[in-house]
Amino acid sequence: MQQSLHILRSVFGYEAFRPPQDAVIEQLVGGEDALVLMPTGGGKSLCYQIPSIVRPGTGIVVSPLIALMQDQVDALEQLGVRAACLNSSLEPEAVRSVERRLLAGELDLLYIAPERLLGERSLALLERIELALFAIDEAHCVSQWGHDFRPEYLQLSMLHQRFPGVPRIALTATADSATQREIVERLGLEEARLYISSFDRPNIRYRVQPKGSSVRDQLLGFLEREHRGNAGIVYCLSRKRVEQTAAWLNEHGWTALPYHAGLDGATRRLHQQRFLREEGVIVVATIAFGMGIDKPDVRFVAHLDLPKSMEAYYQETGRAGRDGLPADAWLVYGLNDIVTLRQMVGGSEAPEARKRVEQRKLDALIGFCELVGCRRQALLGYFGEQRDEPCGNCDNCLEPVQTWDATEAARMALSCVFRSGQRYGVGHLIDILLGRATERVQQQGHDRLSTFGIGTALNQTEWRTLFRQLVARGLLAPDDDGFGTLRLTEACRPVLRGEQPLPLRREPRLGRARRERGSRPVLPFSGGLGRLWEALRQRRRSLAEAQGVPPYVIFHDATLREMVEQRPLDIAALGDISGVGRSKLERYGEAFLDVIREHEFTDEQEHHDARR
Ligand code: ADP
Ligand code: ZN
Repeated sequence: MQQSLHILRSVFGYEAFRPPQDAVIEQLVGGEDALVLMPTGGGKSLCYQIPSIVRPGTGIVVSPLIALMQDQVDALEQLGVRAACLNSSLEPEAVRSVERRLLAGELDLLYIAPERLLGERSLALLERIELALFAIDEAHCVSQWGHDFRPEYLQLSMLHQRFPGVPRIALTATADSATQREIVERLGLEEARLYISSFDRPNIRYRVQPKGSSVRDQLLGFLEREHRGNAGIVYCLSRKRVEQTAAWLNEHGWTALPYHAGLDGATRRLHQQRFLREEGVIVVATIAFGMGIDKPDVRFVAHLDLPKSMEAYYQETGRAGRDGLPADAWLVYGLNDIVTLRQMVGGSEAPEARKRVEQRKLDALIGFCELVGCRRQALLGYFGEQRDEPCGNCDNCLEPVQTWDATEAARMALSCVFRSGQRYGVGHLIDILLGRATERVQQQGHDRLSTFGIGTALNQTEWRTLFRQLVARGLLAPDDDGFGTLRLTEACRPVLRGEQPLPLRREPRLGRARRERGSRPVLPFSGGLGRLWEALRQRRRSLAEAQGVPPYVIFHDATLREMVEQRPLDIAALGDISGVGRSKLERYGEAFLDVIREHEFTDEQEHHDARR
């Protein structure tokens, strides 16, 4: 363990392990297997990187994400770790060079795509070298029910038969126990020790807001208030909306790139590359974007449409803040979203059993949106993790929600649906409640209904909110006709009869939501410190560009931030900063110290001049 800790400090520049990293590493160094379930950003990579360095021979890392392998290798090389990758994107000459280094025992780590590893050529190669371990990353790809299923993963169990003495570690950020069982079974990991860490992502602030009259303005307001210059992802359901939103953000001075399955491969790759390599780029995407996006400094994930389940929401929002600095998960939703998704699930061709599961998953997510209590407690609770205290870092904790007794209003709404024959959408129903004698209302004779004009105590927006909440609670259901027609459900009877009180969330007025308490720009530095921060980023950018690597491969934001706070003036002090290991100190120490010293000097000068 001494040796592992020494490597953590000298190579990676980190002070201490985050449990259970230490236990996992000890297990592998001792030659035993491990299965690690840890959230995104939890620090899975160190669990196999350090044992690969400590143990004799090469650690083989199986990963399906070949687009990201080179970045991982670049990052390790920056740390002075000998790493390479083998995948279909390499030229034959580069492949031969990697193979030579492998045979010469010159590699601590080799990243390889599963289909490549399983080829006879690779297996024969591995038989000729010493192996430190096998790491199977994104291990949930063996799950046939999951959305990332890769058939090649099923064959990885043969590694154990062919290389029986080599320890194996499987890693995933997917938490549920069914997937976990599948991984054990299909990879033959019965002997592996299981390590599960909390799936909480404390640095992510969860917020859910109702859609106002202009969703785009809401998004723009959020970005301008809190995310100037930050990188982030905006998710939309349809390609068209992705394109429109990206174009619109560009018009307003943001660098936003569309990403969806309808774009050709080259464009998609380019946009992903720009997102990784440049700073402050926003990707507007359908869910097709994001699996395995390793970018640590994604500062926000915004949803303009509802995800399909809590699992999807957790996974998508989880792409924010891998570096542990404050990050935002921001979602807006409205009645139409619920109606559309309910109809999509209800009207699909899938077998009934499957539809029921999907409906339940969607309901859980909608319930999460309408929640009055702590969002984090609910999110973790959904995954079976109990949390006793509210988190203090979600919208409901920061600004406790008021409830009101909506029983009477709900009865009006429900009976209005009933009396008009369960054949209308929300717009018409609200017209009736508010007593608006529109042409359609008159044509249908709805101005003669007993519910005509009984709802003037609430305004249009408040009625819409109430209808949304009734649909969300399953007291009203959209028809399968695709027109947003609402009908009553069994569940609404007790409410309609006045037997069941209905306390509902009171929406903050949008005007107030705009001035939300607790909103804060991420990473604020002002004055001289702000200038230093920018100058350090500039230095990092030029070093990164010169080598063709993403800036975060040089130093993470968290490390630059600590430089601004500590302002080290010599190599020893700089080496104490988290994320500054031996190799980076040698390569970049002076370059960053120069920037810091220069700023100390100019700032002092400024003070001096100001005093005179
Ligand atoms: P995962 O693969 O689980 O999503 P990573 O391995 O990419 O997470 O680690 C997430 C971030 O946490 C990285 O920036 C990594 O350098 C950092 N990290 C990991 N372990 C530690 C540690 N013990 N101390 C400080 N930072 C760490
Ligand atoms: Zn909370």
